[in-house]
Amino acid sequence: MVKEKDIKSILEKNFGFNDFRPLQKESIDAIVLAKDLLTILPTGGGKSLCYQLPAIYFKDKITIVISPLIALINDQVINLGQNSIKAEKLTSELNSQEISEVYRKIYNYEISLLYVSPERANMSSFRQLLKEVNISFIVIDEAHCVSEWGHEFRPDYRKLHFLKEEFPHIPIAAFTATATKKVAQDIVDSLKLKNPTILKGSFFRKNLILNVQKRVGNGRDKLLRFLKDYQNESGIIYTFTRKESDEVAKYLQSKKFKALSYHAGLSSQKRKAVQQSFIEDETKIIVATIAFGMGIDKSNVRFVVHMDLPKSIEGYYQEIGRAGRDGLKSECLLLYSMSDVMRKSELLNSIEDDRYRNMAKNKMEEMYNYANSSTCRHKILAAYFQEEIQECETSCDNCKRGEVQEVDITKEAQMFLSAMYRTNQSFGANYIVDILRGSKNKKLLDNRHDKLSVYGIAGDISKASWELIIDKLFEKRAIKRGEYRELLITDFGQKLLKGLEVLKGNPEIFENIQKVSLEADSLTKDENFENLRELRAKIAKKESVPAYIVFSDATLKEMAKKLPTTKEEFLNINGVGEAKLEKYSEEFLGKLAEIKNTTLSPTVQKTLDLLEEGSSIEEIAKLREIKSSTVLNHIKIISKAKKIAKQLQDKVIQEYLSSIPDDFQKWYSVGVEKVEDFECFKTYIYSLNSIKEIKE
Ligand SMILES: [Zn+2]
Repeated sequence: MVKEKDIKSILEKNFGFNDFRPLQKESIDAIVLAKDLLTILPTGGGKSLCYQLPAIYFKDKITIVISPLIALINDQVINLGQNSIKAEKLTSELNSQEISEVYRKIYNYEISLLYVSPERANMSSFRQLLKEVNISFIVIDEAHCVSEWGHEFRPDYRKLHFLKEEFPHIPIAAFTATATKKVAQDIVDSLKLKNPTILKGSFFRKNLILNVQKRVGNGRDKLLRFLKDYQNESGIIYTFTRKESDEVAKYLQSKKFKALSYHAGLSSQKRKAVQQSFIEDETKIIVATIAFGMGIDKSNVRFVVHMDLPKSIEGYYQEIGRAGRDGLKSECLLLYSMSDVMRKSELLNSIEDDRYRNMAKNKMEEMYNYANSSTCRHKILAAYFQEEIQECETSCDNCKRGEVQEVDITKEAQMFLSAMYRTNQSFGANYIVDILRGSKNKKLLDNRHDKLSVYGIAGDISKASWELIIDKLFEKRAIKRGEYRELLITDFGQKLLKGLEVLKGNPEIFENIQKVSLEADSLTKDENFENLRELRAKIAKKESVPAYIVFSDATLKEMAKKLPTTKEEFLNINGVGEAKLEKYSEEFLGKLAEIKNTTLSPTVQKTLDLLEEGSSIEEIAKLREIKSSTVLNHIKIISKAKKIAKQLQDKVIQEYLSSIPDDFQKWYSVGVEKVEDFECFKTYIYSLNSIKEIKE
């Protein structure tokens, strides 16, 4: 007879809740009725209460909890202590003295719950204990670890079938946050559960806002932009490798974030300390490999970022599930690129077991499809766990964005493929981008690839955009990697190159491109650039080629700024190779010389401004602390650029000439007597020379 009143009172007294959350009551009912149970309750659903409460309900009996991670066990034991629930653990961390103390408490029924690791559960001493002690039920926590189909398979878990075989009278309650139908069946079969009650909670967590974006480079710019909204909030950032987790943590520290890295490479002491400071809110951000998170029951994690594509949807779902356990809105950002898939595929290829390798590859592919999808992300996740839900409408990027209008990137794809083709398909992506952007990379110059017609034709497309375009080329299998990681053009790529196929992509690709061309737009005010553009248009028309084939905007922009006058200087501009030097230098250098003559440097402009205000040459020299011969030199430049009114020019020069001392004539014919006179004479000589040139 189940005493409902007792259960309600334990809930209020020991846990401080008034109501059960979904499936908690159903799970508890099954346990107190001594039935076998499998509860699949997504992270944050309150699954530990499902077995902790009945453990207290069964007085004078002990509940065993088999749990896969020591960190998780420690955490639970401490939490229970705070709710004045008596619990102990048997793990490898204890010394023999501590172990005998735990045994003493067990045999005296001083505790309600005993946590053990699967390794310890498989020891004969544990079987002995099951024989001698009155056990209420056995909990298998994180039960998906039983299944080979799960993402965290633990061989020691697989051996737990002995429990039912040897102790059929002890009920088993298995719990997991994630299990597909297949995994659920595998759990039931391998634990030999008898007519189990199977309960499954909803996988839809509306308070998690799901965002997925293509990663550009190492993704740190995007990460930083994302974190701006979370200055003082707790969050977890997942990386693929330990090295990355250390580097990202260091990077965030340099940006004044309270971030620490966490991975299996740290000592257990260090890991404990990091975890503790996160729980206590001292450390706000943990940058971790997947080793972090299991058993961390921190309710105010406001964001989870993945810097890389996770290995499986189960793993991803579990990791994002660490955000927003308090039910408040929390954001999940996944950054990924096609290169993640390739990098991981290479790792998986080294797995010898065919079945396991294929399974891992399938899981990764499902993950990639999720990332790449344009339908409701919550719906995809729920469907993965065989749950059907409506579109979330407001909790994922795809729902919020609505229909995405793809943009045509065929032209860019052709540029890339053409550069690959012209370099015999023997280089990697970065090298090809260097060619297209007109880089002065030494290897490229040594290979004389600056002579290619495609050299520098896309200097206005940012490296970041190229990355996304290349990603798309991989995704659509227009290119592939060869044996030495060089890029090869596929059949589809050939068709694309010939214009028989079209390539489209997310406008995200062009966001970067547009940013650059916006900059170019602001350059329309720049007269120099405008002049060069005019010349480029003229040449392009004459040669019947698109303007960018002559020079890219970025190249013109650099020219407009640096105003090269010699062939050597011209060659130094990014996007100018020897072929283009030969072809275009004459016309462009001519134009540049013209521009240069009409452009006043800031210091010369200042002189002109002062002249126009009515200052005399000597006044300007005094005011600006320069020699009057320098001012005259400025006037010479201004005059050549035809930027000064003739009248004004004549007036200031006349004024200046009349200020020349009479002694000047004497110095001119008989020489100077004193050093100071010489200095003065020299100045006037220079000045008069300038005046002569101005008048020419
Ligand atoms: Zn949605």
